[in-house]
Amino acid sequence: MNSEIRRLGLDASFAAAGNEDQAVSVLCPICHDYMEDAKEVDCEGRHVFCGPCIKNVSDREKPCPFCRGRFSKMERPHALMRTLIEQIKWKCVNFEGGCSFTGTKKQLEKHLDDDCEIQEVKCPFIGCPKKMQRAPLEAHKNSCPYRLVACGHCDEQVCFNSKQTHNKSCPKFPVPCPNKCGKKVLREAVSDHLQKECAEELVDCRVSGCGESVKRKMMEQHEDGNMKKHVKLLHAEVEKMEIFQTEIDKLQSELDKQQEQTKTLHTELDKMKADVDTLKAQSQSRQLQSFSSSTRDILDVFVRLPDFETRSAGMQKGHGQYLESTSFLFQVRDCEGALSLVYRSPDPAWYSPSLM
Ligand SMILES: [Zn+2]
Ligand SMILES: [Zn+2]
Ligand SMILES: [Zn+2]
Ligand SMILES: [Zn+2]
Ligand SMILES: [Zn+2]
Ligand SMILES: [Zn+2]
Ligand SMILES: [Zn+2]
Repeated sequence: MNSEIRRLGLDASFAAAGNEDQAVSVLCPICHDYMEDAKEVDCEGRHVFCGPCIKNVSDREKPCPFCRGRFSKMERPHALMRTLIEQIKWKCVNFEGGCSFTGTKKQLEKHLDDDCEIQEVKCPFIGCPKKMQRAPLEAHKNSCPYRLVACGHCDEQVCFNSKQTHNKSCPKFPVPCPNKCGKKVLREAVSDHLQKECAEELVDCRVSGCGESVKRKMMEQHEDGNMKKHVKLLHAEVEKMEIFQTEIDKLQSELDKQQEQTKTLHTELDKMKADVDTLKAQSQSRQLQSFSSSTRDILDVFVRLPDFETRSAGMQKGHGQYLESTSFLFQVRDCEGALSLVYRSPDPAWYSPSLM
């Protein structure tokens, strides 16, 4: 509550017409101002004071400042008393200056803040120390050196008395070209102006190898006066480019050749693969042939089993006759050799080496 208390220095002389008698009873006996955050103490007279004023007394353990009686409690006053304090009407604190306003303490505060023509008000512009009555302040605000004004070049609002300073750094402020070409350009566009259009700016001759820098406005003259030199330089440039082109062509043809070689190698590789396939096929067919030729080496051979012959002859057939045995299949190694051995022998028989 204490922080909201606003002292206006009211006394009985500020009571509005008809409120004079009650006004006395709502003034604090300690500070003699309007009673703020009123508190009633439990002395015999139950006297009422501003909250902060009586708290100060209570903290120092002093008696009631009005009747010197002891008190131990501070309470909100009776509702009737509270209403009286709140509702009593006052004249404007500037009534002597001619303000005719009357109202409660709350209304008076608002009147002083917003309306009272005679109330002294601080100039609202940052930095301005002026304090004056509301009416002349309105006029002052229009000429206050601290008032905000539009820059006029950029979008910023600037303090009137620092506009000059602002202009020295405002990006949109027109400044004369630093080369003194006679043009005025926005501060932020100076480097663009120099790079692209300033007649007084030194620029490099565009002819490669010329190496001269002249003012932009003199470039045409430079080009006219250096035609021979420029043609020579351009010619050299063209030659250089031709050599370069030849180099490129050479490299290209080498590349083509290499690609051709790669192609040939691929073809050869394919051929070799095909050869390998053919060889594989041939080798397979040869194996097949050698197999079939080896089948030709198989002979039908009659085998004599003397014991079997003797016994069967005695049992079934006449003496001296041969009994044909079942035919057996033999595979003979070195068939030709074996055959020649058989054919050369008077007795056409061939005996295998003994297995035993
Ligand atoms: Zn007081
Ligand atoms: Zn008292
Ligand atoms: Zn007023
Ligand atoms: Zn001002
Ligand atoms: Zn500006
Ligand atoms: Zn310029
Ligand atoms: Zn040049």
